[in-house]
Parts: sequence; structure tokens; C-alpha cells
Amino acid sequence: MTTTSTVPAERVLTGDRPTGPLHLGHYFGTLQNRVRLQDRGAEMFVLVADYQVITDRDVADRLAEHTENLVLDYLAAGLDPERTTIFAHSAVPALNQLMLPFLSLVSVAELSRNPTVKDEIAHSRQTGVSGLMFTYPVHQAADLLSCKATLVPVGQDQVPHLEVARTVARRFNERYPHADGTGVFPAPQPLLSEAPMLLGTDGGKMSKSRGNAISLGATEDETARLIRGAKTDADRRITYDPATRPEVSSLVLLTALCQERDPETVAEELGDGGAAALKRTTTEAVNEYLRPLRTRRAELAADRAHLRQVLRDGAVRAGVVAEATLAEVREVMGAVV
Ligand code: ATP
Ligand code: MG
Repeated sequence: MTTTSTVPAERVLTGDRPTGPLHLGHYFGTLQNRVRLQDRGAEMFVLVADYQVITDRDVADRLAEHTENLVLDYLAAGLDPERTTIFAHSAVPALNQLMLPFLSLVSVAELSRNPTVKDEIAHSRQTGVSGLMFTYPVHQAADLLSCKATLVPVGQDQVPHLEVARTVARRFNERYPHADGTGVFPAPQPLLSEAPMLLGTDGGKMSKSRGNAISLGATEDETARLIRGAKTDADRRITYDPATRPEVSSLVLLTALCQERDPETVAEELGDGGAAALKRTTTEAVNEYLRPLRTRRAELAADRAHLRQVLRDGAVRAGVVAEATLAEVREVMGAVV
């Protein structure tokens, strides 16, 4: 029997590690695009990458709490569990089983060249590099290919990982074609936003685990305090020049995104106002933009049982899709008895 599943034009999968609250980098890097894709009718999968928490640390601290809060951030940002399948990948055994054949398709040399893995190792809380850290992009390939994702709204740091997923898909299709010569997997494409790498308050990539993030759920006062402490430079003239003035430009871009304007116009208006005026403007723009999201977040936060139910329903839906993919994989490999 040949199993051919129909894949809609746009099937989206992306996700986040439950290592802390979502921040502005997530929002403008990927979350906003997820909501847009959902609203234009794409078939949506969003996963909580809970196994990937232990790629760079020994124990997943407060995992249940971080996982629920991730779902809370998703819902507050506008993801609708009726239209978007939200699930934790540890709850979908068929997805994880795909990692085994996929590991055979990439070499150790290829994995060791991955620049994002190198960066994550540099920021790791472990002294050695675990096998899971090293093979993280292959696990991500299993996430993506388990539902035959075609489009992946991600930040810049995920592009090298996605290249691994594309390689895995291509090599699997070459090695194990269907009888009619077609391949099992489409090659997932990255979808980058206007802010593919928003900087944190220390001038490095804004990250949940690097103590430099402004979280979506922060209070207005916290937001003001964090932005006030952000790294800038001594030049009073505000310009938008990401290559030579990354920190100032990231604040300008953040303001522009919140105000739905061009970063060049925002910079021009600030003129010779200096970093203090820029930071005041950014703070107001961020707090104003996030006000409705934060109100929804506070309302939704009261019902923890609902957040867990969203994950249980999502795991069932994602499980059906991943089981079908695994059955197809086992069939083309000749593993069906
Ligand atoms: P951690 O520090 O635990 O790795 P993180 O902040 O890097 O957390 P991830 O869960 O690794 O967040 O990333 C989730 C998604 O958000 C990915 O698609 C990633 O590319 C995107 N993303 C993360 N940080 C940024 C950022 N600063 N700018 C744009 N996109 C980002
Ligand atoms: Mg990360």
C-alpha cells in the first residue's frame, strides 16, 4: 500500500524552547508572522521544544511553569488554539522516532560546522558538549518534517538549523523515494521578518536565557527600566545604520515596528536628541504597542487548566500527523512488516 498524504500549499511549523518568557525579539522575529499566517488561513503548528531545553543545561528548571507561560504568551499574542495546533514535542512519540533515521543522513563534520550550534555552545551552561546539543538541528528537522512543514517563521539564528532540515529532507528523498520516484518530504523554507535579530539590552542577540531580554509580559515600569539600561553609544545624532551602530539601530527599529513606521523616519525625527530621548520614545512605543497584549495576558493567566488543555488537544492533533509521516517513512525504508 502506498500512503500519499495531501499537504496544503502552506503548512507552517515553528516553535520556542520553554526556557523563560517570550520577549520582543520573539514577537517581531517570528510571533507576529505566525499570527499573520494563521489569520490568512495557513495550516499552523507551533511547538514547545521542551526536550531542547536540556541541550545546553543539565536540568530543565521549572519546565511545567515555563511551558504554560509559553502557551500564555502565544494566546495573548493572538494564536488561536482552534486554528493553530499548539503542542509540546515530548508528547509526540512518532515525531521523536524520526530522529533515528535522520541522524544517519548527516555527518559529524557537518554538524560541527553549524554556526548556531557553535554560538549556543559558547553560551552553554554545561562544561562539555552533550550529544543532544550537537544533534539539536537534526531534532529540529524531526520537528519540521514530522508535519511536512513548508514554511518556518524564524529568527536569523535558526537559518543554519533550517539548512540541516532541508539537507535531511533532500537526502531522505534521494535515498528512499516512493515507488513512483517522488519524495516523502518537502524542503521547509525560512520566513524571516523585518527584525530577524533584535538585540538585547547588552547589545547581543536578545535571548530568554542571557538576561538581556524585555519580556512581553513585563510591566510598563520594568520595560522602562530595562530600556533605560540598554547599551547605546556616545553619538548624540540618532541614525538608523544597523551595520555600524547596531545597538542604537536596534532601538530605532523596535520603535518603528511598534509605531508601524520606517526606522529611517523615526531616526530623523529624533535628530540630535541623543540616547536618552531615543530610549524614552522606545519605551512609550513598546508600552503602548503591548498594552492590549498585556491586558489579554493578565486575563488568560488566571486559567492554568485551560493552558494545559490547549497542549493536550494539540498533542493529539500533532500526533495524528506525525504518526502518518512515520508510517510513510517506515514504508519507503522497507520497515513495514
Ligand atoms: P534561549 O536563550 O533559551 O535559546 P531564545 O530567546 O534564543 O531562548 P528560542 O526559543 O531559542 O529563544 O527561539 C525561538 C524563536 O525565536 C526562534 O525562531 C528564534 O530564531 C526566534 N528569536 C529568538 N530570539 C530572537 C531575536 N532576538 N530576534 C529575532 N528572533 C529571535
Ligand atoms: Mg535560542
